[in-house]
Amino acid sequence: MRHLFAQDMEPRDLSAHVPYRAGRGVEEVARDLGLDPDSLVKLSSNENPHGPSPAAVEAIHETADSVHTYPKAAHTDLTEALAERWDLKPPQIWLAAGGDGVLDYLGRALLDPGARVLVPDPGFAYYPMSARYHGAEIDQYRLEKGDEFEQTAEMVLAAYDSQRIIYVTSPHNPTGSEMPLPEIERLAESTDEETLVLVDEAYGEFTDRPSARDLITDRDDVALLRTFSKAYGLAGLRLGYGVVPEAWAGAYNRVNTPFAANLLACHAGLAALEDKPHLRETVETVRWARQYIQEHLVAPTWDSGGNFVLASVGDSQEVTTRAQKQGVIVRDCTSFGLSGCIRITCGTRESTPRAVETLNEVLAER
Ligand SMILES: *Cc1c(COP(=O)(O)O)cnc(C)c1O
Repeated sequence: MRHLFAQDMEPRDLSAHVPYRAGRGVEEVARDLGLDPDSLVKLSSNENPHGPSPAAVEAIHETADSVHTYPKAAHTDLTEALAERWDLKPPQIWLAAGGDGVLDYLGRALLDPGARVLVPDPGFAYYPMSARYHGAEIDQYRLEKGDEFEQTAEMVLAAYDSQRIIYVTSPHNPTGSEMPLPEIERLAESTDEETLVLVDEAYGEFTDRPSARDLITDRDDVALLRTFSKAYGLAGLRLGYGVVPEAWAGAYNRVNTPFAANLLACHAGLAALEDKPHLRETVETVRWARQYIQEHLVAPTWDSGGNFVLASVGDSQEVTTRAQKQGVIVRDCTSFGLSGCIRITCGTRESTPRAVETLNEVLAER
């Protein structure tokens, strides 16, 4: 007789999938160390140290009473505002639950089972994860430490074999390096018509270099990823969007999870988009902090276009642990394949010097 329980029930074979490991939260670390969370400086997740735009916070309060409704008008309003911001048509803006959600939607829209994708190494862990969920196989191109992690069309093409999607991160996490626009264009030009060059501009607000947006006017094989998690300080709301060519923008309606961005996120995103002073202050502080870290940290650093700086510190695991005991949380880059390096998020004008001072003390002890 068969058991009534479905004892053979199991998820599909997920052995090729690695779990995503987020940096630990302030509360967790504070509890472990027996410290007050407010006394910690958390510079490990590239969050905005100024917090969200006050206008976004107000929008969230004002919207709280309406969360029993689906975000129909709010979704449309935010999409239209972003379309205007980029001078594109609304269907070309693919709202999603974070930039991560954009990666999933592009995977759903473009990847057939068995397709291949090309990701950077070191690189953002969710590219291969998302592609694998959609049945794709992963190939990698190298950013070489010896070449200052320089990004050129040529180095990507060296690993190119007609993959369906090439992920380019510019500014790149965790190294801070950038691929100049003419190189991105050359890459799109040199690859098959069926290959999408996805330019991840999650840190696009922090660089002086132009966005790859202009390539989308004349090409149907370049798309962008942008997010409200970094410069706009809305990481907790999970709001990002893709910017895609008009030719296949309509695919969004066939692949998106209904109401991809939630009501609070849509209202907060719209308010944050209009809060120019908050964005300006955020970007100015990042510029200042990048330079401060590079000038005052007693360790070699790399140039960065993002809101973080990569530094070479020797035993990165030990440096990270020791700094954490002093209340300064930075990211050990061993999991990125960069053992010996830490990534320091740009903090405020108060927290950045404190973090650098603590790290210098830890480095001097060794
Ligand atoms: C932070 C980040 C994203 C997007 O993160 P979301 O919070 O999902 O918007 C995308 N790419 C890179 C490289 C990032 O660092």
